[in-house]
Amino acid sequence: AFDVLIIGGGPAGASASIYAARKGIRTGILAERFGGQVMDTLGIENFISVQATEGPKLVQALEQHVKEYEVDVMNLQRATALNKTDHGFEVTIANGAVLKSKSVIVSTGARWREMNVPGEQEYRNKGVAYCPHCDGPLFKGKRVAVIGGGNSGVEAAIDLAGVVSHVTLIEFDTKLRADAVLQKKLYSLTNVTVITNALSKEVLGDGQKVNGLRYEDRATKEERVIELEGIFVQIGLLPNTDWLKGTVELSARGEIVIDQKGETSVPGLFAAGDCTTVPYKQIIIAMGEGAKASLSAFDYLIRSSVE
Ligand code: FAD
Repeated sequence: AFDVLIIGGGPAGASASIYAARKGIRTGILAERFGGQVMDTLGIENFISVQATEGPKLVQALEQHVKEYEVDVMNLQRATALNKTDHGFEVTIANGAVLKSKSVIVSTGARWREMNVPGEQEYRNKGVAYCPHCDGPLFKGKRVAVIGGGNSGVEAAIDLAGVVSHVTLIEFDTKLRADAVLQKKLYSLTNVTVITNALSKEVLGDGQKVNGLRYEDRATKEERVIELEGIFVQIGLLPNTDWLKGTVELSARGEIVIDQKGETSVPGLFAAGDCTTVPYKQIIIAMGEGAKASLSAFDYLIRSSVE
């Protein structure tokens, strides 16, 4: 049995595994795909102390760092269920095996909800982006659209308006859903256009990069094209927590509810990174959260009577 079993091998899980192993406790890390979202990232310019890197390169460095320690790495394995027992936890894997551990850290991350329209996949990282904090500066002086008029979409539009030349915010509904104070700020900006009641239909490009967005005016059914260089999709971040429903307290959005120590509603079960209620989903934050959850798990182990 493990002392700490980490489920998820992104930045949060990798960081948690190193912090646990450095305490000399039996540490395992289970990952469907080691590296997580970072594997899908092209340029990274906000991982402080590393001026610029690429996702797969950062994942390689993470893997090497983890391998420096006695961590049992179980890659390409998906957890399907978690049960608390008298002795700790049992984690069931998709292949049917069951792993035992005194404590568990869940760091299964999240995925951006996609528009599911033609061109979106083709132009991903070639104009289609999901993270304004990460990719906003790449569109300095250019024209972009933000898809989604909830809080994250409107925040993204306000943020981007300070960097790019023009922002068009596209909302499917007849009105924006963001908080009134954010909407007021948005409408005060001179380089932002808001289009409501619009259905995004296609990402257009020249084969190399994005050059437009085709949408339908839902009132008139007319189709229009906006010329632009970038599209930020802000229609939700989905935490990978479906398999935990009924096991641990989740927020309305499905995020694992954690406190400032990374503790969940279940003693001995900790969580870190994008799958939790932690605000701002970023690599540097996920790593800090993973370290914190690991130190909390160690604290739990030395205080508990679990044999
Ligand atoms: P993730 O990276 O999502 O990792 C989750 C891990 O859990 C993976 O190993 C996954 O396979 C595994 N997993 C999921 N479910 C299960 C299961 N049931 N059983 C076992 N394993 C499971 N952030 C920045 O700071 N800078 C950037 O420039 C940047 N650019 C980005 C670009 C893109 C395209 C994307 C998608 C994200 C970007 N981000 C960026 C955000 C950043 O990648 C995330 O905040 C960060 O990866 C979160 O780390 P995490 O460890 O919490 O989760």
